[in-house]
Amino acid sequence: MIEIKNVVKSFDGFHALDGTNITVPDGSIYGLVGPNGAGKSTVIRHITGIYRETSGEVLVDGEPIYENPAKKALVASIPDDWFYFSSATIRDMMKFYRGFYPAFDMDRYEKFKEVFTIPEKSAIRRLSKGMQKQAAFWLAMCCRPKYLILDEPVDGLDPVMRRQVWSLMMADVEEYGTTVLVSSHNLRELEDVCDHVGIMSKGKVLLERSLSDLQENIVKMQVVWNSEDTPALPEGLQVLHTSHVGRVYTYIIRGRAEDIKGRMALLSPLMMEALPLSLEEIFIYELGGEQYAVKEIIL
Ligand code: ADP
Ligand code: MG
Repeated sequence: MIEIKNVVKSFDGFHALDGTNITVPDGSIYGLVGPNGAGKSTVIRHITGIYRETSGEVLVDGEPIYENPAKKALVASIPDDWFYFSSATIRDMMKFYRGFYPAFDMDRYEKFKEVFTIPEKSAIRRLSKGMQKQAAFWLAMCCRPKYLILDEPVDGLDPVMRRQVWSLMMADVEEYGTTVLVSSHNLRELEDVCDHVGIMSKGKVLLERSLSDLQENIVKMQVVWNSEDTPALPEGLQVLHTSHVGRVYTYIIRGRAEDIKGRMALLSPLMMEALPLSLEEIFIYELGGEQYAVKEIIL
């Protein structure tokens, strides 16, 4: 498990992280979503042990990660600014990784030559940005990490390679229980692959949930009432939004569909239907007060 507990990271008095809390359960695919400048890369540099927090705690399997080689060997990452030695080839970098990660898998390295169509002996600095990303993937996947941390990983990859890379990662999650944390400024990019999501804005996590929790705890009710007047809704229903077109009323209500239907039924509507919300709609209503952050990540 990865835990970020109340972390503040200050650069010359500016709080890039401002009391950030994140929990990444083992075996999950966790999407860290937020607009540019939210603090995603700063979070990731803490998890990979590059930055030391100003205050708070960054724990991997319950231990502080900073200057902790045993735990750092469990974490492989593809940062937004991937480091390679200036004249290194992929094969040179493989040797470097192999020295650092005891679980480095040479068979897999050889096999991936078929997947990633980059010559292992070309200088990394001469490769295109997308090819460098592929090289970083190739090596990170061979580390057989318990935790795979990806900072905006698919930027620069073409759609075919994107799908390829995701399916390789999903297979590792299924087969080995690998935990994946992936950041993006775009929610749509992650909604099909993640099972947990954290929304960041201005150094804080605004909301962190499993997708099933999110989807089961909010519902869109479409109701046609019996009379011209709209009856008052039952006490205690958490209505987030109401609108109507003619006599068809739409309510966004927090809670489970079955409970809400039961309570609405007491008002004897002419017709009533509970509909699921898209992930995008859920964020808009859940984060109503943070419209700006929401718009930035779903547009
Ligand atoms: P994101 O990855 O979500 O786009 P970052 O984590 O890169 O955001 O940055 C969050 C904020 O922290 C930004 O305002 C950025 O300018 C600032 N920041 C990040 N790294 C540094 C640094 N090394 N020195 C000063 N400010 C930084
Ligand atoms: Mg970033």
